[in-house]
Amino acid sequence: TKDYGIRVRFAPSPTGNLHVGGARTALFNWLFARSQGGKLILRVEDTDVERSTKESEQAVLRDLEWMGIEWDEGPDKGGDFGPYRQSERKTIYKEYVDKLVAADKAYPCFCTDEELAAQRAEQEAKSLPPKYAGKWATASKDEVEEELKRGTPHTYRFRVPQDGKVVIQDMIRGEVAWANDTLGDFIILRSNGLPVYNFCVAIDDATMHVSHVIRAEEHLPNTLRQVLVYDALGFQQPKFGHVSLILAPDRSKLSKRHGATSVGEFAAQGFLPVAMVNYLSLLGWNDGTEDEIFSVQDLVQKFSIDRVTKSAAIFDKTKLLWI
Ligand code: GLU
Repeated sequence: TKDYGIRVRFAPSPTGNLHVGGARTALFNWLFARSQGGKLILRVEDTDVERSTKESEQAVLRDLEWMGIEWDEGPDKGGDFGPYRQSERKTIYKEYVDKLVAADKAYPCFCTDEELAAQRAEQEAKSLPPKYAGKWATASKDEVEEELKRGTPHTYRFRVPQDGKVVIQDMIRGEVAWANDTLGDFIILRSNGLPVYNFCVAIDDATMHVSHVIRAEEHLPNTLRQVLVYDALGFQQPKFGHVSLILAPDRSKLSKRHGATSVGEFAAQGFLPVAMVNYLSLLGWNDGTEDEIFSVQDLVQKFSIDRVTKSAAIFDKTKLLWI
């Protein structure tokens, strides 16, 4: 297989402003790319049509630009492996659903909501984990053909191999493993034709030749599904690095009641982009010394994913003030 080099991505969902967590993820990806001579892809994850807005996409792009985080490929820049908005990639997702179905690694599921609810209730009563237990996992070709001919609404499910496990060597967290049988056959394409989020991400990262996936820890549970999709399609897995949470000084979840938490708010308050970048860089990273003042050039030179901590980072704005 061809070596596409170091390629990372920042993949915002345009459903609001760019928060410090997203900004820090973008920054670490950008520093990783710049320090290694790699490329940063910007991918807009706008599959959630109800919550995604163009205004939010523009705000996120503007905030990144304000911080000086430049991407090499993206919705506004093009690149060989786009389009870079998920809403423009539906035919690509469908193509891979079809490939999986042809290889019997995915199948159409004609279960109604009532049937699925009954399966779940039965499993709950027996304290079993919720897993697809309908007949379509093992239905005959004829049965499937008949329903398709009738035009019965259906989803597509990914067939999860129930033996074995997925093990990753996370660049930040070390070894992370999941037993495959913790997961049932999951939906990859909804009955309305829209692909499911985890499937889009796996197909995008693979077809955009992303070599390193650096993202927030909250996405770690998604990695199991995404790796299974990679493996089923014979894609080479990327390396993963899951960055820790950002907590408020009282170690609670960072939220509005802690005051400004978005890049736009800090910009409006008059903070300089260099201060913001310096501050964000220290949320879960240090250069191994007590130094806390870094120019952008310093950061590009010194950044190393090996020095990203796996414990939670504390968002202490008093530090932003004196940088
Ligand atoms: N769109 C996701 C988010 O904004 C990122 C998903 C990913 O990095 O895999 O949280």
